[in-house]
Amino acid sequence: MTRALYPGSFDPIHYGHVDIVQRAAVLFAEIIVAVYDTPSKRLLFTTEERHELARLSLAHLANVEVVVYQGLTVQAARDLGTPVIVRGLRATSDYEYEAQLAQTNKALAPDVEVVCLFTSLKHAYLSSSILKEVAALRGDYAAWVSEPVYHALQAKYQVEGGVP
Ligand code: ADP
Repeated sequence: MTRALYPGSFDPIHYGHVDIVQRAAVLFAEIIVAVYDTPSKRLLFTTEERHELARLSLAHLANVEVVVYQGLTVQAARDLGTPVIVRGLRATSDYEYEAQLAQTNKALAPDVEVVCLFTSLKHAYLSSSILKEVAALRGDYAAWVSEPVYHALQAKYQVEGGVP
């Protein structure tokens, strides 16, 4: 069994991500969850916070490690010795972007395979941006995230007054 990389922004990690990692952890010997340092999105959490929240949310999985990476995802996959990249697919809207990304990665690194897992129906609607919006508007998001993420979001919006 081979090792796989699960890259993403994880700003912050939620149960949709955790579900993908749990299922991938059954299929692969080891999953390296890789928090991308500088995604082209406006971030709420720092890289260190995103790393720590992912680590705490996945601590129950023995064959999962969380790291931070910079640069090309395929290069990280090579450097970390993970010849497979796992991505999660929520809906048809994700497909176009993920297909583009997979084709680009294949062109850059033919030795790295991309495997997409379909999200569970329970988490199909969940995204980090919707989560942040609900948290900012004081909605109830407790069922969507681990306890450390719940408190971290509360702290961001109630203490620091961040915007989604
Ligand atoms: P990125 O900026 O790389 O898209 P994200 O943190 O938004 O990073 O997502 C990381 C991966 O998790 C992507 O493959 C994304 O499609 C997947 N993902 C996001 N939300 C969900 C969800 N609710 N269920 C399953 N997979 C998801």
